[in-house]
Amino acid sequence: MLSYRHAYHAGNHADLLKHYLLSRVLAYYNGKQKPYDYIDTHAGAGQYDLSGDYAQKNREYDSGFTRLLAATDLPAALAAWRDELRALLPAADTYPGSALIAAKTLPPPGKLHLYELHPADYQALQDNLRPLRLGRRLHVAQSDGFTGLIACLPPASRRAVILIDPPYEQKSDYQTTLDTLAAAYKRFPSGTYLIWYPCLPRDESRHFPAQLNQHFGDNYLRAELHVRAENGAHGMYGSGMYLINPPYTLPAELATTLPALRDLCAESADSRIILDARIP
Ligand code: SAM
Repeated sequence: MLSYRHAYHAGNHADLLKHYLLSRVLAYYNGKQKPYDYIDTHAGAGQYDLSGDYAQKNREYDSGFTRLLAATDLPAALAAWRDELRALLPAADTYPGSALIAAKTLPPPGKLHLYELHPADYQALQDNLRPLRLGRRLHVAQSDGFTGLIACLPPASRRAVILIDPPYEQKSDYQTTLDTLAAAYKRFPSGTYLIWYPCLPRDESRHFPAQLNQHFGDNYLRAELHVRAENGAHGMYGSGMYLINPPYTLPAELATTLPALRDLCAESADSRIILDARIP
């Protein structure tokens, strides 16, 4: 089923949470000055035109990116990330996706392995990354990212940041993510895995963080941003990021920046965050 198009959602509050954490993990890896690879199982189009028909349909970016650009009292770490994000923008009225953020952040000789099934987004991904001239460092495949991930582990560099960001439009994406992670972790237990998930009023979504914790609860970070309280009638009320082998520096930074992201993206007075971590 390929009805999902991320362009409708680009730059919304869930993208901000996801891309902020992705950027922090990449920055941490860059600080180590050792080569590493980036794997994106559901890469999307790489960048999004906010003036285009898809983004304009519901203007979801107004729930996130617009507010970030306009904010005047951000904590220093969040303001610094906003500057980084601005510097990545290929043009006005665009928003960078995970693949572009990684492609512009990953130093050589690190390789990017990107999977995207939708024919139009696969084509856009290639077009959007072409100007970066990444040559053999870039591997883009129009194939299933879950099986693609297993096939490229462990990476030759033995270090990798891995983003798993499925649409979850099919219920099976939750279980497939869990099964894929179990197999991936067996092959490559030292990578940093970032898993995005929606907070929805349905059992698969509610139970997902606990299921992740059952397997990976020895070394994890969970950050959720609820822009409003759960309300059966209103679909996605927030989103979460679950990190396996997170940078040890992240909980302290998030203790300041996650409440600021909540204040920025809140749609009602009952918005809230969840932040918990165990990092040995
Ligand atoms: N990671 C992107 C970002 O942050 O900019 C957004 C990705 S979007 C949430 C999910 C993408 O996965 C969609 O573009 C969809 O076409 C693609 N997709 C769906 N099922 C897939 C699969 N099994 N393997 C690879 N891509 C898939």
